[in-house]
Amino acid sequence: MKSDVEISQAARMEPIVKIADKLGINEDQIEQYGHYKAKINFKPTDQGKDGKLILVTSINPTAAGEGKTTVTIGLGDAFTELGKKVALALREPSLGPVMGMKGGATGGGYAQVIPMDDINLHFTGDFDALTEAHNTLAALIDNHIQHGNQLNIDPRQITWKRVLDVNDRELRQVVIGLGGRTSGVPRQDGFDITVASELMAILCLSTSLSDLKERIGKMLIGYTYDRQPVLVSNLKVQGALTLLLKDAIKPNLVQTIEHTPAFIHGGPFANIAHGCNSILATKAALHFGDYAITEAGFGSDLGAEKFMDIVSPRLKKTPDCVVVVATVRALKLNGGADKKHLNEENLDALKRGIVNLKRHVEGMQQYGKPVVVAINKFVSDSDNEIKYLADYVANNLEVPGEVITSWADGGKGAVNLAKQVITACDKPAQFQELFAPDAPLTDKMQAIVSKIYGGNDIELSRKAQNALKRIEKMGYDKLPICMAKTQYSFTDDAKSLGAPENFSIHVSDLQLKLGAGFIVALTGKILTMPGLPSHPAALDMDIDENGRITGLF
Ligand code: ADP
Ligand code: MG
Repeated sequence: MKSDVEISQAARMEPIVKIADKLGINEDQIEQYGHYKAKINFKPTDQGKDGKLILVTSINPTAAGEGKTTVTIGLGDAFTELGKKVALALREPSLGPVMGMKGGATGGGYAQVIPMDDINLHFTGDFDALTEAHNTLAALIDNHIQHGNQLNIDPRQITWKRVLDVNDRELRQVVIGLGGRTSGVPRQDGFDITVASELMAILCLSTSLSDLKERIGKMLIGYTYDRQPVLVSNLKVQGALTLLLKDAIKPNLVQTIEHTPAFIHGGPFANIAHGCNSILATKAALHFGDYAITEAGFGSDLGAEKFMDIVSPRLKKTPDCVVVVATVRALKLNGGADKKHLNEENLDALKRGIVNLKRHVEGMQQYGKPVVVAINKFVSDSDNEIKYLADYVANNLEVPGEVITSWADGGKGAVNLAKQVITACDKPAQFQELFAPDAPLTDKMQAIVSKIYGGNDIELSRKAQNALKRIEKMGYDKLPICMAKTQYSFTDDAKSLGAPENFSIHVSDLQLKLGAGFIVALTGKILTMPGLPSHPAALDMDIDENGRITGLF
């Protein structure tokens, strides 16, 4: 089997204008970045009928990911194979994990978006622009303090940190401003990864430049000595920051190996933020395609819940079908199998772990839309294991399930799945809200915990209770809630796998993200600046004299 980058580099790409043309995007709507990448000038107010929306999510992932992106791409290629006008909407990869261990975010095997090397490395510069905009704001805050601090900002209560798109644990906590009078006011600070920036979340939730600017102006950056909130608009720099993002806000267009159009745009963390590509990219896919297929990050308890409860109201569109990706490997892991022995048949572990899939499917069914299970087949899965899983879906879950082999076979490996999805999309179904949009914050969290996670209660720490009081006093307690939780478990304990019962979710703090327009509930320990593993992917990468790349997965 060839490596992902070998398959990608051997693929024949079509000029991006041809891909755009397939969707009826005309030439004055595209800005080319070379031959195979483009940005799209697209206003969601443009006339047109929306296509069907398909949301791809999964069971609780393992460290390697469960193949949601791979399935999304394979499914898209199967739609193309069936002669449908389809467009994908995906997130952009973050360089931190690319150099670290997760790998890229361009799919795998014969289900990839290309040029995968470009997409994984800088792409069209969106994340660089975001990083610069984020840090420009940080510099402007410190500069304001240096030059007299008219706003009375308390340097100990600044919540706006700095960012880099690098996994660098050394920078989690730093002291800045050392060096005397001319080098700033010393204070404690820290770095997050770019994808954890609120600016990233905002870019992905904005529908226009003016919407973006308004949201940036609303961002909370800290508090004054008398504990009053300080917003970006108080510093009067929302214009400059929006200017830095004028191109980053435009969705990027590329293609799959089988020439299916794919919008790849934005990539907020799915634990600390909402974990979905930009609303503009999804709107573009819906606008130009008869079918739009998008992926939400991590398992359905995180990404898909946020898609339904945070993204859909702003998109003004709910999914017509939800695809839940499951793998034999991850279910075995959820059933207690040893990570090192996932390649060996283990029906006992699969039987124990399958409850994880059941809970994800039932969670998604509460939203009232059709659910289809995609069984993403690995070469190491035994026939017995695949049969057990397929039978379980058919007999116990009462939803359609199909095996997908797109990693090995491309689009034709997903044709059966695509047919099931098309049938599901045509079913009349009414979206059901999990909670009323103006329900109290604690009720919303309670609903997510009991209906999606399968737990009993939420428990707020003293700090979280105080934060809640402060949020209520400020009048922001009706904002949507964005749960920040480990992706590995339904609970807030990463080691509690399967489908745990009788647990509480411990909320340690509540953070106001006024620009994004949600409140982040922190549960357990959430890292906003990852570290690199003992053998980072970077150690295996190389490029030769002719530009031939190796080791990029
Ligand atoms: P996710 O989107 O859920 O994080 P990805 O689609 O990015 O997952 O896949 C994670 C990794 O697993 C990638 O390296 C991909 O190539 C690999 N992968 C996905 N599906 C398969 C499969 N069926 N067989 C082998 N490898 C796979
Ligand atoms: Mg993915």
